[in-house]
Amino acid sequence: MSYNIAIDGPAGAGKSTIAKRLAAKLSYLYVDTGAMYRAMAYYFLINGIPVEKETEVCEACDGIEIALAYEDGIQKVILNGTDVSGEIRREEVGSAASVTSSYPAVRQKLLGIQREIAGKNNVIMDGRDIGTCILPNAQLKIYLTASVHTRALRRYNELTEKGVSCDLAEIEHDIEERDWRDMHREISPLRAADDAVTVDSSEMTIDEVVDTIYRMTLS
Ligand code: C5P
Repeated sequence: MSYNIAIDGPAGAGKSTIAKRLAAKLSYLYVDTGAMYRAMAYYFLINGIPVEKETEVCEACDGIEIALAYEDGIQKVILNGTDVSGEIRREEVGSAASVTSSYPAVRQKLLGIQREIAGKNNVIMDGRDIGTCILPNAQLKIYLTASVHTRALRRYNELTEKGVSCDLAEIEHDIEERDWRDMHREISPLRAADDAVTVDSSEMTIDEVVDTIYRMTLS
């Protein structure tokens, strides 16, 4: 039987950084489900499908094939045969994904792929609904969070380091909006599973978070 670790939480809590490190430490596969939602949103954007129009988005879902590939342990997202791992990281793709991920047809499309991967491999899967919906029987569930201000500051520093000019207040606003959408949608809203352990990373370093969760896998 495969061992599954679910890490859920809001945007910018550090899920992917932590999950990647843990996956390397445990020799598990890291599955970034947000990247799959982003790849779908990217498809809608490049094909001129208005993301607020649920019917049009749902009709377009049939033309989408999402697959994951791994190169030296790094996840690549393949959209209709093309690696889009770089393109999907843009801010507007993330915002579009938070809109289209509220549509049942979009979620249904990814649910099967995610469960299949977790059924065949030891995984650390991160997202919003992994512990509550995708992998309700995961052996370990973590809800990783941090204050809005901390998360915005992390994103601000990340962008500034890359030479991208940005505004902290705007990033904070964007994060609040995304949190609200993710937490208030009808299907699979973001919330901690009843049996999840909540870890607040606001005052913790990456190493401390990795260590805290790693120790939980040993007990
Ligand atoms: O985690 P990331 O920011 O890449 O996710 C992009 C968007 O995809 C999120 O804002 C969320 O709306 C959606 N998402 C989701 N369920 C997941 C993972 C991501 O709804 N399991």
